[in-house]
Amino acid sequence: MDTSDQKGSSIICELCEVEEAYNFHHLIPKKVHKRKWFKKTYTKQTMSEGLDVCKGCHKCIHNAVPDESVLGKEFNTKEKLLSHPKIKKYVDWKNRRK
Ligand SMILES: [Zn+2]
Ligand SMILES: [Zn+2]
Repeated sequence: MDTSDQKGSSIICELCEVEEAYNFHHLIPKKVHKRKWFKKTYTKQTMSEGLDVCKGCHKCIHNAVPDESVLGKEFNTKEKLLSHPKIKKYVDWKNRRK
């Protein structure tokens, strides 16, 4: 779990749109940036992109997809993350509690 990028801002979470985003989730987790496949496939620019998310959603992303190379390969956009059944369920649940 990548929690090294703590934010102190008051941006709203890009996933649930309920809580403040204190975390930054790299769509391509930093841990895999050095791997050949990722270096070949993505530019530095692409690999630095990510989402401002709240702690709950960030945890949910990494719980739903614990393998960071899978995250970087198959869940590297916000839309793809939201299409994951576990993440979708969590976000829907949060929205109902608004
Ligand atoms: Zn959230
Ligand atoms: Zn993350």
